[in-house]
Amino acid sequence: MTNTHEIVIEKVKTSKINSINFDQLTFGKTFTDHMLECTWRDGGWQEVQIKPYGPIQVEPSCKVFHYGQAIFEGMKAFKDASGDVFLFRPEDNWLRFNASAKRLAMPEVPEEVFMDGLKKLIQLDEQWVRYGEGLSLYLRPFMIASENGVAAAPATEYKFMIVMSPAFAYYTGDVRVVIASQFSRAADGGVGYAKAAGNYAASFYPNNLALEEGYQQIIWTDAASHQYLEEAGTMNIFVRFGDTLVTAPHNDRILNGVTRRSIIQLAKDHGIKMEERRISVSELVEGAKDGSLKEIFGTGTAAVIVPIKGFKSEEFTCELPVLDQPYAKTLKEALKDIQYNRADDPHGWRMKI
Ligand SMILES: *Cc1c(COP(=O)(O)O)cnc(C)c1O
Repeated sequence: MTNTHEIVIEKVKTSKINSINFDQLTFGKTFTDHMLECTWRDGGWQEVQIKPYGPIQVEPSCKVFHYGQAIFEGMKAFKDASGDVFLFRPEDNWLRFNASAKRLAMPEVPEEVFMDGLKKLIQLDEQWVRYGEGLSLYLRPFMIASENGVAAAPATEYKFMIVMSPAFAYYTGDVRVVIASQFSRAADGGVGYAKAAGNYAASFYPNNLALEEGYQQIIWTDAASHQYLEEAGTMNIFVRFGDTLVTAPHNDRILNGVTRRSIIQLAKDHGIKMEERRISVSELVEGAKDGSLKEIFGTGTAAVIVPIKGFKSEEFTCELPVLDQPYAKTLKEALKDIQYNRADDPHGWRMKI
């Protein structure tokens, strides 16, 4: 492996930015002018290439199509009122990317390839990061097995890539959830803690069944007993009982979200009593019955915080109370204020590009 990773840049001849309506963005549909590509071959990372966004050529036998060696990250860049661009805790994403890579038997990406590549790419497409409420640039680093051949073994060639998509505030509509009593997202010793593409593939079918019943998402429970809450769809889960906020501890089944970690800290900063412990389905049902259950919300980079309006368990259905000043709102605002450089950054989460 080489220590210096040259970045070779090929710019677009003409930017497509003037054809983009930034007021009408569908999440994850529009991509910026450039992308990053770096190939791992012969046991090392080759030069980092930044080039016009466009199709890549792969053969049908490309291993990612057959054995699913694919991982990704989701992060955002924000612009402040004076035009400076910031990333939010990007080191955490890089570390998690490599934790995912390790679990999927893929090569780890050096910090300078990930970070310097990301910074160069954002600088080049800086015009695509818009200033304004809810606007951001969604960043999608990912890695796929790119070796050809259908032998079931880890690939000897990989592509690390970054694509970027201008995003408007992620609008989910009202979210009501079904508590999983049959399907599971992850199991002990599995890949639940990794951002493995296949985790999402496996969740689509159960989620479709929930949609058919009129629910937008699933609250995943532990695979062994289906008695404990684990995640809210593709987000980490928080529950408020009385004045106390509780979230499930992360483990090898629960993804260690950057938003989760940030919300835990912000709750503490706001003097909110915060607990990391298991939450049982029966505790949720009891809380709904005696009125101590105040809020349930999910946390993740794309939507920051998604309040959950109601849930259905095997024998109980409930609507959550409507609060004047829910924790979900207070904490979401506090996090966004840091992300958009509208507030102090006591924990050093912002990284200026
Ligand atoms: C990405 C992801 C999250 C949220 O992680 P963030 O770092 O907060 O974006 C939570 N759960 C799952 C399953 C995820 O894939």
